Amino acid sequence: VEEVSGRLDEAQKTADGWGPISQDPNLADQHAHNVRKFREGLAELQRGVDDVNDQAARFSAHNVPLTPANSAKLHDLNNRWKNLETAVNDRWRQVASRSREVTPLTPAQLASSVSPPWERATTSNKVPYYINHDQESTHWDHPIMMDLLDSMNEFNHIKFSAYRTATKLRMLQKKLSLDLAKLQMATDVFDEHGLRGQNDRLIDVGDMVVVLSALYANISADHPEVNTTLAIDLCLNWLLNVYDSQRTGQMRVLSFKIGLVCLCCGHLEEKYRYMFRLIADPNRLVDQRKLGLLLHDCVQVPRQLGEVAAFGGSNIEPSVRSCFTKAGKDRETIEAVHFLAWVQQEPQSLVWLAVLHRVAASENIQHQVKCNICKAYPIVGLRYRCLKCLSFDMCQRCFFDGRSGKSHKITHPMR
Ligand SMILES: [Zn+2]
Ligand SMILES: [Zn+2]
Repeated sequence: VEEVSGRLDEAQKTADGWGPISQDPNLADQHAHNVRKFREGLAELQRGVDDVNDQAARFSAHNVPLTPANSAKLHDLNNRWKNLETAVNDRWRQVASRSREVTPLTPAQLASSVSPPWERATTSNKVPYYINHDQESTHWDHPIMMDLLDSMNEFNHIKFSAYRTATKLRMLQKKLSLDLAKLQMATDVFDEHGLRGQNDRLIDVGDMVVVLSALYANISADHPEVNTTLAIDLCLNWLLNVYDSQRTGQMRVLSFKIGLVCLCCGHLEEKYRYMFRLIADPNRLVDQRKLGLLLHDCVQVPRQLGEVAAFGGSNIEPSVRSCFTKAGKDRETIEAVHFLAWVQQEPQSLVWLAVLHRVAASENIQHQVKCNICKAYPIVGLRYRCLKCLSFDMCQRCFFDGRSGKSHKITHPMR
């Protein structure tokens, strides 16, 4: 508590030192940059505050009451954190509105995401569809999305469903350039567009384009090579496939956020914390219905790739029950600490997300060992070691294919 409190003081001092915002757009850009950096630093402070609260929750779960002094300290810490968060958010809104305005893509710009013989058209509720004038056919999917879904079939040889799904999602994530979108970037864009606390509302395609335009403007600021028009159109296509397959032109704000958060880049635990905050009530508690909504939206991501059977199917009821059972007997609500303890065990409905993060993190790592099956050296990506055979290493490709060796059997446990 003391340590977090000290860091909170430091941060508050910086925030207190903020002067008026310049009218000069260049200086306003500079202000915006500083506040963004500051907010990124706050993510760590938020973890500290969450940890302290988790600790306190664990004590009370074991019937160890906090001393009145400690309880007052914790209360004070949470209040100060909330004030700082509000101050920083206000500051952010001010500087963001003064610095370069992000203009959402116009329909004419979006139309340029395809070239002849293709044409991009929209329904009366602004849902895009694509016409091939050579073949006189129409499709909900962008031609590049069709190619992408097609080329994912090359991963069907992967034996383990969590790895197969994660590998497909990794390909999708890169195609949409969402691997370049930081979690904080995405959540900032949601907040700036008034989506905070609006999770039960519906968002229509027009507003989705506005939010995605802002998100991809942030991405291209760091990565000018990204073709944002195409990426926005593909991302919209994907979100509609996942959450609005009937093309009504609307989806829940919660779904929109969950989809983007699943595929953006960031720490898995921070993603889970953010997801929990999305569904938590003002007392930081979540009931079964809310957890069900969250898991339902998560599971739609693999479902869209036809990969839902291995993750418990579309019925998330058993998953919700397992989380609440783990939290304790007869609980009507859970706290963040219960949810995090449960997801850490990689429950069936979410294991694909954990594996996606592992696959992404290990992608460029080289291990100076040879694969005992295919003899590849060095092993790039995930490295698997048999827990039964002596110094038996396998590359991720051989492991995914479920290959076995002379003495090594597929039933051997691997690490
Ligand atoms: Zn190999
Ligand atoms: Zn073995």
